[in-house]
Amino acid sequence: MRAFVQTEVGRFEERDLPPPRAGPGEVVLRVRAALTCGTDVKLLERAHPRITLPVTMGHEACGEIVEVGHGVERYEIGDRVVPGISGPCGACPECRRGFENLCAIGHADRTWGAFAEFLRVPAGVVAGNLHRAPPGLSDEIAAFLDPLASVVHGWSRLAPVQGTLLIYGAGALGLLWAATARARGVPVIVAARGGAGRLEAARRYGADVLDLERDAPHRPAERAEEPPAMAVDCTGDPEVWTLLPDLVASGGKVLLFGGCAPGTTVTWDAARLHYSEISLLGSFHYTPGDAREAMRMLAAGEVDPAPLLTERGTLSDLPRFLAAQARSEGIRYAVRPKLDSV
Ligand SMILES: [Zn+2]
Ligand SMILES: [Zn+2]
Repeated sequence: MRAFVQTEVGRFEERDLPPPRAGPGEVVLRVRAALTCGTDVKLLERAHPRITLPVTMGHEACGEIVEVGHGVERYEIGDRVVPGISGPCGACPECRRGFENLCAIGHADRTWGAFAEFLRVPAGVVAGNLHRAPPGLSDEIAAFLDPLASVVHGWSRLAPVQGTLLIYGAGALGLLWAATARARGVPVIVAARGGAGRLEAARRYGADVLDLERDAPHRPAERAEEPPAMAVDCTGDPEVWTLLPDLVASGGKVLLFGGCAPGTTVTWDAARLHYSEISLLGSFHYTPGDAREAMRMLAAGEVDPAPLLTERGTLSDLPRFLAAQARSEGIRYAVRPKLDSV
């Protein structure tokens, strides 16, 4: 099968690989659509301590089951599904405390390798984090399950939700935060640099917008009738992490959602955190329950990621799409393996 493989930091190539086979409890998908993601670019630029190279790239996909491993009963050949990334074990201390998103066992064998004609889904994912795409939902939109589930998880970290939310950054994730805020009736301000129609997309999702090319970042707190009670970082920029406690109201919450580069340290004003009771909350990945809620929202049309899809193409367009994504041109790109090559 044709597949795009990252061979080292900064390098990837198209290869001809043997298609994966389904082991016990696993399924194999024929990829119908896969999305580019900022994570793909990050991994390409700086690798990842837990991902050994070479690795087939891509992790957001909708596919059709073409092989079912021994012991799989809930799925059949022909089912159109979207896999979550991790398959939490349900039994470790993290899982038992409700932090299935942090299950080390679930992250040990992830769904990875969507920029290919076929994709193996690990047994842990098949057991609890594999989601049927309802009829009527397109392959590309269904593949937004993964980023949307991360946002659904972030909302659970902010609970109880009160007041206005300041969203810092307007990539796909920042815009999904805006889209879900509208679905929940939460007023939002999106602060970001313009370009690629990002701020226009934020406005279409009902957000107030602060264009950081023109306005200083302290403005959101001044512009709103009262400062936002919550802020979410969707940039992974440590300077933004330092800044956000100053932009929320006393008693406010800051959700650290965008991942910073490994080894990053962040400095905060201790007096601000202490005397103004600012809560700093981490958010990483999602649970199978978050993914189910994400699929429900997509199926119900509560969130429409279509404005985030800049261009559709085939696997051979991937190098061009990843280069554009790396230059922050466009928002998301979708690739389909060419049908005639299957
Ligand atoms: Zn992703
Ligand atoms: Zn576990």
